[in-house]
Amino acid sequence: MITINEHYLKLQASYLFSDIAKRVETFQENNPDKEVIKLGIGDVTRALPKASTDAFHAAVDEMATEKGFRGYGPEQGYAFLREAIAENDFASRGAEISPDEIFISDGAKCDTGNIQELFSQDITIAIPDPVYPVYLDTNVMAGRTEEFADGRFKGIVYLDSTKENQFVPALPKEPVDLIYLCFPNNPTGSTITKEELKTWVDYARDNKALILFDAAYEAFVQDDDLPKSIYEIEGAREVAIEFRSFSKSAGFTGTRCAFTVVPKECVAYDKAGNSHSVHTLWNRRHCTKFNGVSYPVQRAAEAVYSEAGKAECKELVEYYMKNAALICETMDSLGYKYDGGKNSPYIWIEGNMDSWEFFDMLLNKAGVVCTPGAGFGKCGNGYIRISAFNSYENVVKAMERIKEALA
Ligand code: PLP
Repeated sequence: MITINEHYLKLQASYLFSDIAKRVETFQENNPDKEVIKLGIGDVTRALPKASTDAFHAAVDEMATEKGFRGYGPEQGYAFLREAIAENDFASRGAEISPDEIFISDGAKCDTGNIQELFSQDITIAIPDPVYPVYLDTNVMAGRTEEFADGRFKGIVYLDSTKENQFVPALPKEPVDLIYLCFPNNPTGSTITKEELKTWVDYARDNKALILFDAAYEAFVQDDDLPKSIYEIEGAREVAIEFRSFSKSAGFTGTRCAFTVVPKECVAYDKAGNSHSVHTLWNRRHCTKFNGVSYPVQRAAEAVYSEAGKAECKELVEYYMKNAALICETMDSLGYKYDGGKNSPYIWIEGNMDSWEFFDMLLNKAGVVCTPGAGFGKCGNGYIRISAFNSYENVVKAMERIKEALA
């Protein structure tokens, strides 16, 4: 008899986006003439940089010739892309990462979800609340959690991110082995300073723990004093893995390209206390289960680092940040408290009411869709997330409506 992995039965069905869709549908039925503006999703809306599409086309043309055709590539990614990343994303910020420590993949979602496979079943895991749901759900699937009660899984150390700590969680009181951090944060838009990040690196070193640092939104960091990479922090190479993505920085959500950095010094231990290279383990996993990102996509990603590509990506980010500034300005004028929006495309707004009530109010009074914070964890209740990923014209319209509705 075929039996299932019963840990899947523990997963909490995520009704967040289907609930949102249902409420929007009902609103549209009742208000057929009202155009709904969606500021809820975390997907980009603008076209790919021309530098990338030119490189994409050229690579497809190469593949159409006998001479230029390429079959399976290196599972870890082509050297041209790994070298461009090492130089532009790390060396330029004083972070020492070699190309062979970079693993190209088709998404930070898969990588942040798959990485937990390398570690034993009985480790203690620290996960922020609110959080990008992939970190938690993949550990639930792997059987590292106990029952779900009162909005939380037993067996997980939750790192509360609240207004009291400016949405940067404090170090855990109990020892933990694996720590998920994400800055700039989805959903709160909060950022971490180098000093704060150093306390996490020191904690990991003191406790033989490992940090999984999700930097999918690093391109939105405007303040040059803030870290874009955890490897800007001394000592991080031994205790941190970093996840990056071209999704938000270059509009690749539909094109799919990302990478994970695993420094050679990173170690984890066996039951006898002997250390093992995490780089070797991840390389083994990657080569066994993944067959590389397509050649044209890697060429399109490489073009992001050309002079033209850099300028276009900067312009893309600035476009969304202009939207974010307008959202912040509107919230300031209405007297709402919020975090994010300065170094992040997300604005996390304190509603002084239940998340869903706030959501319904914005939908029904302004025809604007946001994301209720409660969908990201218990600490998200009372908040909504507004995303800057939309056209400037739509954001202007949405903010005018919100001003009118909430004034
Ligand atoms: N990490 C965070 C924090 C995200 O918010 C997202 C997507 O929204 C991802 C990773 C996924 O990135 P990718 O498109 O590379 O899978």
